[in-house]
Amino acid sequence: MADSASGNKSASGAAAPSNFIRHMIGEDLANKKHAGRVHTRFPPEPNGYLHIGHAKSICLNFSLAEEYNGRCNLRFDDTNPAKESQEFVDSIKDNIKWLGFDWHGEVRYSSNYFDHLYDFAVQLIESGKAYVCSLSPDQAREYRGTLTEPGTNSPDRDQTIKENLDLFKRMRDGEFDEGAYSLRAKIDMASPNINMRDPVLYRIRHIQHHQTGDKWCIYPTYDYTHCISDAIEGITHSLCTLEFEDHRPLYDWILHNLDIDSLRVVSDLADSEADYVLPQQTEFAKLKINYTVMGKRKLREMVESGIVDGWDDPRMPTLAGMRRRGFTPASLRNFCESVGVARSESVVDMGMLEHAIRDDLDKNAPRAMCVLNPLKVVLTTFAEDYRAELTMSAHPKDESLGQRVVPLTREIYIDKSDFEEVPPPGFKRLISGGEVRLRGAYVIRCDEVVKDDSGEIVQLNCSVDENTLGKSPEGRKVKGVIHWVSASEGVPATVRLYDRLFNEEKPEAKDVDYHNCLNPESLIKLENCIVEPSVIGNDAGNFQFEREGYFCFDSIDSSDARPVFNRTITLRDSWSN
Ligand code: ATP
Ligand code: MG
Repeated sequence: MADSASGNKSASGAAAPSNFIRHMIGEDLANKKHAGRVHTRFPPEPNGYLHIGHAKSICLNFSLAEEYNGRCNLRFDDTNPAKESQEFVDSIKDNIKWLGFDWHGEVRYSSNYFDHLYDFAVQLIESGKAYVCSLSPDQAREYRGTLTEPGTNSPDRDQTIKENLDLFKRMRDGEFDEGAYSLRAKIDMASPNINMRDPVLYRIRHIQHHQTGDKWCIYPTYDYTHCISDAIEGITHSLCTLEFEDHRPLYDWILHNLDIDSLRVVSDLADSEADYVLPQQTEFAKLKINYTVMGKRKLREMVESGIVDGWDDPRMPTLAGMRRRGFTPASLRNFCESVGVARSESVVDMGMLEHAIRDDLDKNAPRAMCVLNPLKVVLTTFAEDYRAELTMSAHPKDESLGQRVVPLTREIYIDKSDFEEVPPPGFKRLISGGEVRLRGAYVIRCDEVVKDDSGEIVQLNCSVDENTLGKSPEGRKVKGVIHWVSASEGVPATVRLYDRLFNEEKPEAKDVDYHNCLNPESLIKLENCIVEPSVIGNDAGNFQFEREGYFCFDSIDSSDARPVFNRTITLRDSWSN
């Protein structure tokens, strides 16, 4: 089978799972179709930030190219300048690199091909396969017909080639207002596929383009541009999502109605020996994840209305957000691989994504201690200036991550929740008069609970059994182990606890208004945390704060100079039960 013959290696190093696209490519290679080449492309529209759905397409296109010794282009599909911008271009390039992929050659833009696209449009007009239509957009909609009724021919459909050429040139020269004319393919107004009812190829738009400036006032449509751009770049396998299945006949119609030699001479293969074969569009199912909104329009709305703090808010399903949240490239690549590639749509459980990140961080994130809700503990049996350096491993199962030094001093902090005056049944942590082990250190006993005037516990005075470092106390069992941080040497920090943004499984469903199912606890800010010093300046970036979850360093808060950490994910799945 082609899969094994190509020696596929996945992100995790295991053989990549097969799917219908790999099968197809295997067959194409066996049949010497496309002269044995595999050339894919990732074609984002620069009108927003990439999201996890795009990651699936990126992983698919780039991995296939890697597996088959092929190539993968990055092409910005920039035919709709009104919604596009350089900011989006830059973030998309950055995200692809971060995921660990690199495109073949220069970054491409559909707008690079505007001259060719114009020439091909002239070619279609000259061969009687396109015409300039004067119907307004509203009229054109009426003439298009419906799913059950055929459309009606445009009154301009039989205009002469000469008239069409003249009008098209004048469209280009800026003589007309927007909407006054369009260029349409002459296919079949009675086609059961509405995409084939004389689709628009060019529209007049008097707007600037982020790449071509003022050069053009007519812009080609997506359908017209995409297939020709693929053909120009010598793409063999043009992979897109299912909603383009009905557009495939148009993709093929356009390419087959152009003179193939004229495509070849302007293509990247013009100077090569390779056979020139037209690209083949193949559709796969979009990635959908429950509890998540993925449509760019809604994501943009959430940014603009302030529901989140920007495209890179750690609760966003954008790659920029997930990166800030602490997701790693490996976890996302593994996730994309594990969801697979299918021809029919399904919704993936959020738990799978969370599993992928837990799995990676469990193996690779160094451990550290961070107290989220500090309660002071005075170790009364130590001298005032007591200080010890305890050496702990950075990872319980991976020695290669090395060791860390954790200072122990007379005053430390533990988490408020690790002490109870009136313990519930089964409580194994610290209680009045009880014992607990400080992680990696000694067993302590709580001798006194100090309260303020309002009755709130503000301090515990504890004695240390100094004969318990690395060994059990004599004659008794101490079950509980709690984390702690030195009060004088721990570093004050802000921790943001992130959780799912929506508490509704299908926030994008038609009968659901996502505004009504926002999880009010998707962000909880804790401003008095204290973290062990080994974390500061540690390049690892991701950490397991023991017993609390996986966290990553975000930034230094400019107002108080404290480090800020984001919770990537809890230690265990708290959603499914
Ligand atoms: P959205 O619908 O979220 O706005 P889009 O399809 O308009 O996304 P593009 O920039 O056009 O976004 O997408 C670039 C590529 O990524 C396309 O090939 C598209 O099919 C693919 N893609 C987009 N969303 C998904 C998804 N959820 N799963 C897999 N591939 C996707
Ligand atoms: Mg799109």
